[in-house]
Amino acid sequence: GTAQIGVTGLAVMGRNLARNFARNGYTVALHNRTNARTRELVESFGDEGSFVPTESAEEFVAALERPRRLMIMVKAGAPTDAVIEEFAPLLEPGDQIIDGGNAHFEDTRRRERELRERGIHFVGVGVSGGEEGALHGPSIMPGGSPESYDTLGPMLERIAAKAPDGTPCTTHIGPDGAGHFVKMVHNGIEYADMQLIAEAYHLLRSVAGYSPEKIAETFREWNTGRLDSYLIEITAEVLAHTDPVTGKPFVDVVADRAEQKGTGRWTVQIALDLGVPVSGIAEAVFARSLSGHIDLREASQSLPGPTPQPLDEADAARFAAQVEQALYASKIVSYTQGFHQIRAGGDTYDWNIDLGSVAAIWRAGCIIRAAFLDRIRTAFDARADLPSLLSDKQFAEEIGAAQDDWRAVVATAARQGVPTPGFSAALAYYDALRARRLPAALTQAQRDFFGAHTYRRTDREGSFHTLWGGDRSEVGTG
Ligand code: NDP
Repeated sequence: GTAQIGVTGLAVMGRNLARNFARNGYTVALHNRTNARTRELVESFGDEGSFVPTESAEEFVAALERPRRLMIMVKAGAPTDAVIEEFAPLLEPGDQIIDGGNAHFEDTRRRERELRERGIHFVGVGVSGGEEGALHGPSIMPGGSPESYDTLGPMLERIAAKAPDGTPCTTHIGPDGAGHFVKMVHNGIEYADMQLIAEAYHLLRSVAGYSPEKIAETFREWNTGRLDSYLIEITAEVLAHTDPVTGKPFVDVVADRAEQKGTGRWTVQIALDLGVPVSGIAEAVFARSLSGHIDLREASQSLPGPTPQPLDEADAARFAAQVEQALYASKIVSYTQGFHQIRAGGDTYDWNIDLGSVAAIWRAGCIIRAAFLDRIRTAFDARADLPSLLSDKQFAEEIGAAQDDWRAVVATAARQGVPTPGFSAALAYYDALRARRLPAALTQAQRDFFGAHTYRRTDREGSFHTLWGGDRSEVGTG
């Protein structure tokens, strides 16, 4: 075979990744369960580079240069297993199967283990950037063996997005499922970012009384500052868009039900297992679910709320500036939580993930790309064992400077009856971390009362239990 890489699964993502490889000078073997898709790709884009279309598994494998690199871009879950089972028997030790789908990292760990026994490198790769990213340069998060990265890495670096300083947005994240894990948390952070932006919009609309056009303008302005990011940029575009059918602001004709595919939910499920408080991401996932509960929402329409208190123009402008502070502070908290989860996953699964390079490869290509990520990279590069992003001096200073406005926004939202689960959860997290004493002391005492779960003391070593049902004396339990 002559192809340096083969792609099977040629729907939007696979097709565009194949074209990206070809446009970067690689010979790409093509395969898809339904052959029509393969033919269509060659007919429409065959002149973009060197493609080897194939119509059977055997033909596909034969088209690949050895050791073979076979990339799967099919639906995650059972279809991916089916495709692996179709191809693995045709491969030889040293070959690589690369899964670029949105696999659950536990599946990736299982597949890697099974294929390793057969001498095949299984490389789970997180790909972010959607259809456009796949074609013009995504952010790529490869797991798998370091050995596989030796040969695959340079190819991924060629097709990946380039950060503003020119470095490719890909790096070997760590063994087995590390890449898919980091991609999962990327998506969780994406959910949180989107929710925070939505809350900012809601406040500007309901409290400041801004029109969608005016909010678009506000976001465009924010996008020239520290909030500079792809998501803020597209938010301005969406808000400025007018529905061609009705002439109304587009955002007003879209049904207010946010759907989800599941990676945000996975992030929260895994965070619960790891014991990592990702409250901002969790609120974002719950906000989407809540929006979909139409019956519940309709049944609640008549519940009382506060009387709206419209702001005059000067107050509205002041409030908008406060919302920018609240949005930025809450965003710092989301990333603090997300990076905490990556560190916890890395520790649990022995992945040895470098947090600075994760931030670095998110600077371009992916959905959460933002100027802000360069600062996160700097923070972790300066101190790899930084306990939390909030322990970084600069972030701590910024969030400290934002806190008064942040509190004012959350208080105003509560007073005016605008739900801000993201802003509020982020602020609660911040205050909980700051607190010298948490009411967890009371919680633990209650646990000792009803379940003899014991407690530790602030003044002595050891575990203790109070004889709550008896004379309430204290006994040491070890
Ligand atoms: P889809 O997830 O819609 O998957 C369609 C592809 O899967 C088709 O090529 C289809 O073949 C193939 N397929 C489905 N079931 C089987 C099966 N049992 N056996 C063989 N082939 C099968 O395509 P996308 O391009 O949207 O996504 C591909 C992967 O990339 C997914 O895992 C997705 O989660 C992930 N991803 C998607 C992003 C996006 O923005 N869309 C972003 C990042 C990752 P056929 O043509 O024969 O039906």
